[in-house]
Amino acid sequence: MGSGQVTSTSGLFDFQGKHVTVAGLGVSGVPAAKALHARGAVVTVVNDGDDARAREQAAELEALGITVRLGDGSTLPEGTELVVTAPGWQPGKPLFRAAEQAGVPVWGDVELAWRLRGPDAAPWLAVTGTNGKTTTVQMLASILKAAGLRTAAVGNIGVSLLDAVLGEEEYDVLAVELSSYQLHWAPSLRAHSAAVLNLAPDHLDWHGSMEAYARDKGRIYEGNKVACVYNVADPATEDLVREADVEEGCRAIGFTLGAPGPSQLGVVDGILVDRAFVENRQKNAQELAEVSDVHPPAPHNIANALAAAALARAFGVPAGAVRDGLRAFRPDAHRIAHVADLDGVAYVDDSKATNTHAAEASLAAYESIVWIAGGLAKGATFDELVATSAKRLRGAVLIGADRALIRDALARHAPEVPVVDLDRTDTGAMLQAVAEAKRLARPGDTVLLAPACASMDMFTNYNQRGDAFAAAVRELGA
Ligand code: ADP
Repeated sequence: MGSGQVTSTSGLFDFQGKHVTVAGLGVSGVPAAKALHARGAVVTVVNDGDDARAREQAAELEALGITVRLGDGSTLPEGTELVVTAPGWQPGKPLFRAAEQAGVPVWGDVELAWRLRGPDAAPWLAVTGTNGKTTTVQMLASILKAAGLRTAAVGNIGVSLLDAVLGEEEYDVLAVELSSYQLHWAPSLRAHSAAVLNLAPDHLDWHGSMEAYARDKGRIYEGNKVACVYNVADPATEDLVREADVEEGCRAIGFTLGAPGPSQLGVVDGILVDRAFVENRQKNAQELAEVSDVHPPAPHNIANALAAAALARAFGVPAGAVRDGLRAFRPDAHRIAHVADLDGVAYVDDSKATNTHAAEASLAAYESIVWIAGGLAKGATFDELVATSAKRLRGAVLIGADRALIRDALARHAPEVPVVDLDRTDTGAMLQAVAEAKRLARPGDTVLLAPACASMDMFTNYNQRGDAFAAAVRELGA
């Protein structure tokens, strides 16, 4: 730790009497404040917002004797020895500048969970990447369970990291999803093995630059013990492995949709194959599963399955459990979810494709598509996505605040593709969008909601956007 003010006793940190500032109420802030308070820390929570929800949470914490300051997340409380921040808080915030000037260390929720682990805690198999994290971590947990291991998929989904680390339940190993924000604030995390699935521009407004974003993602490999898993098709992920300081003997393991070389997992004749965790990998390979065992068997999802398999194999899981785990896995809602077939046209909800990289993977999974896209672009550009996908487009229906950006990219790279530009951002626009898509589609086509944008201009979140799509499909089918 930077300041050395928060000391360690027998490997565990001693928070007794330490002045800790928790930045941000919410999903991670409330449990973090409680955990620190329970360990004797003098906790102050600071929060920018001062709405009804914040007041409710504040009242709960104040009842325990925790100080809460609502409406001012910028000023560092006097005497702070450690800041524990919600992962989403931007590094440029005045609070962090003040902490830096005062020599006060800043931890995120992941760092806190890592430091609060008991001495015999379960090792972490960690996953990051621009897209596919949740799916891969869930596949991994499914595989580990099939191997008879006590595990959970933790991170942004289901169980929070703090709950998994501090709760009663005992685990043999954890499948951990980590965002770039969380990695930014987790300097001492050391995973058993870790994977970076892919690296495409996202959240650059937060990180400041692509380099800073990649650097934060790359932290996941620091100190890995057994394997650093990278994507052969995305050399930037391999570069991050090369830059990482890892433990002696830790190996770089690639995954590829092609035939695998030594120390890689890949695909041969519709079979997922391991040439990394086998005796004599120059000659031998181990069959793990069939492509048809992966749900859905879209190319990007097979890549996710290979990454999950690589981490599981690094942990010593047998091939049969990889197959059983993949077979048992079903993706969460709004991730390439088949909604219905109407008049020979498939309707697919990939509302979770909230950036261009995800949408590109999604579009690559179908031959002839009427594409429903648009929303909040978060600073993205659409030229590459449209240029790569143009040949698959029967038509496009654009919705949402930043739809002009996609319309212009279509005009530049796919001028022959018919485009319907819906000039409305109310929630009901989805029904009209699906009706327009239905009109454009021919039998054999797929109407694909893969917005390449965030949803908050029209919807509460991507779930609500996907639900609106499914409801519209059902209404038009009735
Ligand atoms: P994350 O947790 O990283 O947001 P998810 O598993 O929830 O990832 O998938 C989000 C979306 O990203 C999916 O709906 C799909 O469109 C896309 N996606 C999933 N896996 C990949 C991948 N390996 N490469 C590119 N896009 C992907």
